[in-house]
Amino acid sequence: MNIEDFQKNLNKIIQFIQEYFDKIEEYPVKSQLLPGDIFNKIPNSAPIKSQSFDEIFSDFINIIIPGMTHWQSPNFFAYFPANNSYPSILGEILTATLGAQCMIWETSPAAAELEEKVMLWLREMLGLPKNFVGVIQDTASTSTLISILTAREKFSNFDINYNGFTNQKFRVYCSTEAHSSIEKAVKIAGIGAKNLVKIEVDKNFSMNPEKLHFVIQKDIEKGFTPLCVVAAFGTTGSTAVDPIKDIGKICKQYNIWFHIDAAYAGSALILPEYKFLLDGIEYADTFVFNPHKWLFTNFDCSAYFVKDPQALINTFSINPEYLKTNFDDHVNNYRDWGIALGRRFRALKLWFVIRSFGVEGLQKKLRKHLAITNKIKDQILQHPDFEILAPVNFNVICFRYKPKSLDEDSLNKLNNKLLNKINNSGRFYLTHTKLNNKFVIRFVIGTTNVEEKNALECWNFNCELAETLK
Ligand code: PLP
Repeated sequence: MNIEDFQKNLNKIIQFIQEYFDKIEEYPVKSQLLPGDIFNKIPNSAPIKSQSFDEIFSDFINIIIPGMTHWQSPNFFAYFPANNSYPSILGEILTATLGAQCMIWETSPAAAELEEKVMLWLREMLGLPKNFVGVIQDTASTSTLISILTAREKFSNFDINYNGFTNQKFRVYCSTEAHSSIEKAVKIAGIGAKNLVKIEVDKNFSMNPEKLHFVIQKDIEKGFTPLCVVAAFGTTGSTAVDPIKDIGKICKQYNIWFHIDAAYAGSALILPEYKFLLDGIEYADTFVFNPHKWLFTNFDCSAYFVKDPQALINTFSINPEYLKTNFDDHVNNYRDWGIALGRRFRALKLWFVIRSFGVEGLQKKLRKHLAITNKIKDQILQHPDFEILAPVNFNVICFRYKPKSLDEDSLNKLNNKLLNKINNSGRFYLTHTKLNNKFVIRFVIGTTNVEEKNALECWNFNCELAETLK
């Protein structure tokens, strides 16, 4: 493909992008295909001869698009959003165009210094302490792994990196509602999944700090070393917030590393009315939230903050001859701030997003999502056949259908059936979780362009379908 072809084809893609966003509500939100449908349409071997862009693009439209779930649809209320926005897409196009590998300062000073600056912006926007330093990772899973590895190294005096484990008996703590990425991190860090202790939650699904304290003391008596507590700021199930200050004080008392997983709900901290939830943040060692979830920056972009960057660097630093430069003592070489050597220029799209919306514009969007959530919450509360099973802390409502008194197993099956009916219609997409073994439907109102009418239509459709199951 030469530059003229590139320009011609780019115009086709631009036209597709415009039409896609115009007509996004016409697609089934959740792909309606079955396993193998796409795989079987793609040839078993790569083409030997060059194929035209028109051929490739036509297959993109006819084969790929039907197999996509439309995360940017305003009728997408599933999981947590992975939202994007026009400025984010434009930034991403430029990142791909520059094609820079931003592993060290010298391989693109602008990438390193813009990253440093936008992380300062985010720190200020969220109201994180001034002694936190930020770096962009790919995902919250990676950030949490990095945090636990740093804790492991700091507490072993950077010895495990060199000698491997020598009889350390570490324990890590999180709540029973914590995200699965914590268990994954504990496994990968060599601590062992059986040494992840899941602490009971209270009626609001927040970690019970007395239980945490009790378990830590028992562990110490048994000869374990409490290494790290991971608190959730917005659990995946119901966006419960663990008591940061109480947990922080326990961590301080026992000299335990304290990581906060705010992957989704962290974005809400740009709103002054939510900042009170950060009380106790000064006790934290690390904090992660994902602009790629609810800050209109397309996947991947995870903002990771650390109080002691030197401990992070000592954990991950490598210095082969071929990567040495003249400026190493004066700059941030982000290859030493995480797992991978190679790094994408992720700060660019984040910079575009923050500047294009402005802090006020971002706040306005989030407040709109929160206001729609309140409307839907009222509708659910007023309906005699539905109940809400967790506090609505942000923009996630966990509800279930309960038309009559049924045993829990039958209610679980009924709600599962209702959810499948909604999703199989292709009109809306919601997902579920279980809270106290009760199957709940999660209504997450956070896609970039969601309007009140989308959420109300979804709610009304849900009620109509529920009637048919009575
Ligand atoms: N932590 C929480 C609370 C989450 O909800 C999620 C994903 O939804 C994660 C961590 C993992 O995020 P990522 O996909 O960025 O690894």
